[in-house]
Amino acid sequence: MPAYDYDLFVIGAGSGGVRASRVAAAHGAKVAICEEYRVGGTCVIRGCVPKKLLVYGAHFAEDLQDAKRFGWDVPDCRFDWPTLRDNVLADVDRLNRAYTDTLNNNKVEIILERATVEGPNAVKLASGKTVTAGKILIATGAWPIIPDVPGAELGITSNEVFHLDALPKRIVIAGGGYIANEFAGIFHEFRSHVTLVNRSDTILRGYDESVRDRLLQISMMKGIEFKFNAPFEKVEKQQDGTLKIFLKGCDPIEADAVLFATGRRPHTEGLGLENAGVEIDANGAIVVDADNKSSCDSIYAVGDVTNRVQLTPVAIREGQAFADTIFGGKPTRVDYGCIPSAVFSHPPIAGVGMTEGQARNKLGSIKVYQSDFRPMKNVLAGRNERALYKMICNAETDVVVGLHMIGPDAPEILQAAAIAVKAGLTKQAWDDTVALHPSMAEELVLLR
Ligand code: NDP
Repeated sequence: MPAYDYDLFVIGAGSGGVRASRVAAAHGAKVAICEEYRVGGTCVIRGCVPKKLLVYGAHFAEDLQDAKRFGWDVPDCRFDWPTLRDNVLADVDRLNRAYTDTLNNNKVEIILERATVEGPNAVKLASGKTVTAGKILIATGAWPIIPDVPGAELGITSNEVFHLDALPKRIVIAGGGYIANEFAGIFHEFRSHVTLVNRSDTILRGYDESVRDRLLQISMMKGIEFKFNAPFEKVEKQQDGTLKIFLKGCDPIEADAVLFATGRRPHTEGLGLENAGVEIDANGAIVVDADNKSSCDSIYAVGDVTNRVQLTPVAIREGQAFADTIFGGKPTRVDYGCIPSAVFSHPPIAGVGMTEGQARNKLGSIKVYQSDFRPMKNVLAGRNERALYKMICNAETDVVVGLHMIGPDAPEILQAAAIAVKAGLTKQAWDDTVALHPSMAEELVLLR
């Protein structure tokens, strides 16, 4: 008789959990994965994937406008939200089935119910059954934080935003991070009036200052309103069903919807981690070592629930490293250096490596190269939107230590450029590469 029901029991079928379970199973482990909502997790079901599809949908507003300058006779166009919403949700269903098929094909048992930890090797399912496993992996992700203010329940989060019955005419977005800026762009392109409200005096803390300033300028020019240093005080429903939002230091704002995009907290509440002595930090994140092991020897955690880097590709790598290390006899650790990231705003931002500020603090002597240009497509379109590429180099070694961009297709360009930054190439190596003309990306090898 085996000592446990499973070699591995995974709680949470998002990016990290799915990768870990299917790789562990491929290594020969007997694996079960449980999920209380839908296989796929935040990224696939209510995050990156449907968001990116909405970004594409939104961008047609500008493309259709620009097309006229390129000779196209564009009739008055009407946007139909239910069509886009339902097509996006249908694609989410397709991906949910694909993820489920992958798990089935790898002989991972899928249990569609909530599970909590009962002990170092025991998990209790919502149906009341207890199962045992040699190793338990927690991959429950993170959950939107909603500020604790009266009327907060009248707002929505990124969980609900993909399911709206109708587009709000006026929307207030709380927060100045990824989700706030991405949805500010999306709703604005769909002709909603957008007010972005942040508690601090900046957007996108952590991104290079010049690049986020440029996004702010462009967003304001487009008509998105910003309120800074304006914490939420309360939200009230008015007699006509609309909302009144009270902010500290500002006049109240009337709106049809409020979207809270004020960060995401590791999803550990009510998981029973105390039953196995699993340590969590002040933010509710599971504390793990470099091999994803918690303070309990048989319990591991990957992805957003550990609050290391809240990005899908990182969770996937952590899940892979866990499975290879524990079940594949191939000890592997994730390298967290030079992780590229992007904000799919309008226009998008992308960055890798140190910002100018970080590099100055860390290296002291740096060189900054910048290209501030109007992409040729924008010139012909009469679109007064400039791109900005910024390269940060170590002045002593000439090594490129950071690259930060805002402009059309910046994430697509940066993914390839990030290889060179990660590889530690010198600026000279970039300069030695012949430009690919005419392109926006050629600016990267022409920086002087
Ligand atoms: P972010 O951490 O990006 O931003 C949170 C924002 O909310 C900040 O502007 C912060 O203000 C503000 N804030 C935080 N707490 C409060 C509070 N209690 N009351 C009021 N304001 C508050 O979070 P998001 O929700 O936008 O996204 C969550 C995570 O999901 C991101 O960190 C990212 O890792 C991931 N994500 C990644 C995407 C991508 O890769 N493109 C897209 C979407 C999400 P302050 O200015 O003071 O910091």
